[in-house]
Amino acid sequence: MSEEKFYFQSEAAELLRMMINSVYSNKDIFLRELISNASDALDKRRIECLKDSELAENTNPEIKIEIDNDRKTLSVSDNGIGMSKDEIIKYLGTIAKSGTREFIEAAKNSSTQQELIGQFGVGFYSVFMAADKVEVVTRKLGASETFKFVSDGDGSFTIDEAEQRSECGTTVTLFIRQSTEEGAKNYLDEWTVRDIIGKYSDFISWPIYFKDKIVNSRKAIWQRPDSEISEEEYKEFYLHLTHDFTEPLTHIKINAEGSTNFKGLLFIPSQAPYDLFMNPESGGISLYINRVFIMNDCKDLIPQYLRFIRGVIDSEDLPLNISREILQDDPIIRIIRRSSQRKIFSELKKMLENDREKYIKFWTAFGRVFKEGLIQDSENAKTILGLEIFRTTNDDGWTTIEEYRARMKPGQKGVYCLAGKDNIDVLKASPKIEPFTSRGYEVLLMTDPIDEVILAQAEFMLPDDAKDLLNIARDDVTPYTDDEKKDNDKKLKALEKEFEPVRKLALEIFPDKLETVKPSLTLTASPACLRDAPNGVSLQMESLMRSAGRVVPPQKRILELSSSHEAVKKLIGLVSTDRDKAAEILRILYDQSMLLEGAMPDNPAEFVKRVDELLTLSLKDG
Ligand code: ADP
Repeated sequence: MSEEKFYFQSEAAELLRMMINSVYSNKDIFLRELISNASDALDKRRIECLKDSELAENTNPEIKIEIDNDRKTLSVSDNGIGMSKDEIIKYLGTIAKSGTREFIEAAKNSSTQQELIGQFGVGFYSVFMAADKVEVVTRKLGASETFKFVSDGDGSFTIDEAEQRSECGTTVTLFIRQSTEEGAKNYLDEWTVRDIIGKYSDFISWPIYFKDKIVNSRKAIWQRPDSEISEEEYKEFYLHLTHDFTEPLTHIKINAEGSTNFKGLLFIPSQAPYDLFMNPESGGISLYINRVFIMNDCKDLIPQYLRFIRGVIDSEDLPLNISREILQDDPIIRIIRRSSQRKIFSELKKMLENDREKYIKFWTAFGRVFKEGLIQDSENAKTILGLEIFRTTNDDGWTTIEEYRARMKPGQKGVYCLAGKDNIDVLKASPKIEPFTSRGYEVLLMTDPIDEVILAQAEFMLPDDAKDLLNIARDDVTPYTDDEKKDNDKKLKALEKEFEPVRKLALEIFPDKLETVKPSLTLTASPACLRDAPNGVSLQMESLMRSAGRVVPPQKRILELSSSHEAVKKLIGLVSTDRDKAAEILRILYDQSMLLEGAMPDNPAEFVKRVDELLTLSLKDG
């Protein structure tokens, strides 16, 4: 085979350019990336050899780092799994990670590229921060050919057959860029390299040789006592483990002894990965058995709603040859899962109580996912609800339900809540809130789609002491005392007669949409609003269910009309004098109420046309 030339997939080429221009100021991390990749390759090789003993070559797994001052190169070698030619093209020539396009788009328009790198990670390509040419020589485990990949990061690379490596594995050689920048590090300097390995890769479980000596302590960080480990070490371990570039928010140490023994080191990242919501299957706990790496991303170790947690679980009791299929039903795994879950809850509770600022960061990043637990995990629903924080009408801060309860007014019937589409300001301005806040009641504001589901099911799904979550969007939830209610009912009764013609007309126009029309004593600023019937499905829920492909029967709602609003008063008069015009106005009021719910009018064009006619008319009069 002669040398073949390839072009990087366009995203990869763009990413390369960014690396060359060094958007990330901490260039040292390229070495961490290479050592991480080498370590992963050794893990993979070990697992392949376990599956197929014929593949086992009689060598000691190791990572080797060498400096050649004459050629001005730094190289990282491993005798791990290696890559075939196709794999070189696939893994190094394209960026397999989905979302890279989004990354590049975001990075182009952002002054905070460093943070963005944190969210996406760029792995192998980081070599171009330090080198102007890279050579990768690799032989796949079990294969006989060795290939050489060469690129100087200009958008293309070449692959050629190379002299056979004596064993499988990969050597990445960096032709270090000679920097003229002041204070720039010299990656050909022994102490610089030693320092970086010590800082970033000390805990790598395979030996790292440099100058013929092992330079990493190889201590599994989760096996060491907490008091021995600095925050810095935890952080570096996290970065190695997750390929994240931003520090974790917090770490959780688990040391379980009893019916089953295991140790765990879990992390809560400080920001959500871009695919957290797109990919509910992604997870990030690595399973070790007696310090031996078994698998990444072991989903059975963590419930789906805690899928943002990253880390390591190391069991003493599982057999080394365990397979993914067996894991699912393994009783030891179940115990590990339960007890890590408990530990996570208790650490979150501590954070909630002692470091609210940090907790809010956690909640903002992962609250939406965490809440799914209310639906998925009824056994722990009470704990999960206790860990929820909410925005409220009281101030701009966050509150727990318990804190809300402590502030409840004497005689208050329950925890008033309102859920709506994703904007807190829209919710705050809802006409449904005013009757509550004007009487000094606080209302919890919920903006995640799942909140609707939770509220709708609160009565039968949530634990007993949470059955008092009251959705104020419902017609039967009011802020009144029993006496006031009686009084209001009387007033409303009197108004009903006056409203009867409007009600009739409205039901004629919207036979499928309205259950009834009611006068309202509380609506002041807006003439109308929609309410859910006591057992009805809210507008949001309805659209959620529809978008999930469910068939939802048409929902009838209650149209409330303000008894004091000028427009409504005029409307009542119009019904008998100009029915057509009254109908037009009713249609506008209905559409306005839809807008207030954050929904679209059924026919936006017609709505605009009607409002337009009114506008023209009023301008003519003026
Ligand atoms: P990541 O490691 O985050 O997947 P990288 O860009 O660092 O991303 O590497 C891309 C892929 O290239 C790896 O997932 C791996 O399959 C392959 N690779 C990189 N380095 C090596 C190596 N030393 N040995 C074998 N495969 C490697």
